[in-house]
Amino acid sequence: MKTSYWEKEIETIDRTSLKKLQLKRLKESVAVALKTPFYKARLKKAGITGPDDIKHWEDYKKIPFTTKDDLRECYPNGLLAVPMDDVVRLHTSSGTTGTPTVIYHTKKDIDNWSDLIARCIVATGATEKDIFQNMMSYGMFTGGLGLHYGAEKVGMTVIPMGGGNTKRQIQLMKDFGTTVLHITPSYILHIHSKLAECGVKLEDLKLKKAYLGAEPYSENTRKKAEDLFQIDAYNSYGLSEMNGPGVAFECVHKCGMHVWEDTYLVEVIDPKTGESLPEEKEGELVFTQLVRRATPLLRYRSRDIACIRKGQCACKRTHRRLSRITGRTDDMLIINGVNVYPSQIEEVVMRIPEVGTNYQICLEKEGTLDKLIVKVEIYSKLFKGELSEVDSLKNRIKEELRAAIIIHPAVELHEPGSLPVFEGKAKRVVDNRAKL
Ligand code: ADP
Ligand code: ZN
Repeated sequence: MKTSYWEKEIETIDRTSLKKLQLKRLKESVAVALKTPFYKARLKKAGITGPDDIKHWEDYKKIPFTTKDDLRECYPNGLLAVPMDDVVRLHTSSGTTGTPTVIYHTKKDIDNWSDLIARCIVATGATEKDIFQNMMSYGMFTGGLGLHYGAEKVGMTVIPMGGGNTKRQIQLMKDFGTTVLHITPSYILHIHSKLAECGVKLEDLKLKKAYLGAEPYSENTRKKAEDLFQIDAYNSYGLSEMNGPGVAFECVHKCGMHVWEDTYLVEVIDPKTGESLPEEKEGELVFTQLVRRATPLLRYRSRDIACIRKGQCACKRTHRRLSRITGRTDDMLIINGVNVYPSQIEEVVMRIPEVGTNYQICLEKEGTLDKLIVKVEIYSKLFKGELSEVDSLKNRIKEELRAAIIIHPAVELHEPGSLPVFEGKAKRVVDNRAKL
């Protein structure tokens, strides 16, 4: 497979030089952080009063963690490290789990971020010849503008459509011969289910690739999107606190997402003890921003669960790879005392061929017990089939789920298009247990 690079030298830098660069940039970032009231107080407590208190690479461990709550407390200006005149843009998180957080960027910060996105795009084999339709929402959400600037840098033709308006999305894909999509995994499946209604056949489209991110999804969902559209789908990961998309991305080999380690110092920790974990061990991802000047962030606890892969990728990039994100520490459901991640349920339902493109996880209280109901859409031809066939499918899904999560769920089969659709991040879990 042909490998192309955006910034070859830094993408293939040897690990010793990379670590040296990380140490240099970490010292610079500590100096920047000390300009903010928040870090001045926080770092002083840990005995760090200047960049020279960081002497060796391992010294990053002396730095205390920063959490999402810290960021919320700093709202709006507690983490601003440059005069507001130097800020050219701000973004906030989507607030999936509470009050949003704010991140400021200087002109140079935006430029660096766009280069990271360009690295990601080129790593998937896309070029200036591609027509790029960005279906992530623009505005405060980083998925829109983030990818947009990087795609323009590469020289792609950008269609800045943003999220939603499915019919128009499909029309534009057809009219302009879109070759690359940036989209959530749930929305790409929905788009497929609407093609026929719009009178568009797969042959009318020129789609080759999709960048799927912004929410956890399983390998089976990737496969489903790839099979339905006959394309390559690449995993794209980011969080607004670390700029947004462009933190980690898959290359053409699709075997984990390269995390740009010249910009992000990445660690995996045990979320309970804070202990650092070795490669291949799953835990919470912690990131330190090494280059951003407007809003420094040191050892930020992302709450996302993944591991760092061992070994080098065939593309020769030396930046290590992250596994698929299995969920967030705060996504975990406790059902009758058993820990379950929504992604485990998705993994199962999406590998069943009769299951269509949407599903939902519902939790209810039945007396003192929790009841898990998994609702899945199935392809319409099945609804016209024998009742016994439908029953046996239901039982099969139930059995496969029980084997994966140990819990006995109730399974409901629904007609295509009947479960709620999400144009941005999907909200799959409906938890009614706390309600009376
Ligand atoms: P919020 O934290 O409010 O959702 P963001 O827009 O910053 O706001 O979303 C970032 C989060 O989205 C990540 O921390 C992660 O949980 C999720 N996410 C982004 N990309 C992926 C991906 N490829 N796989 C799984 N989860 C992802
Ligand atoms: Zn690679």
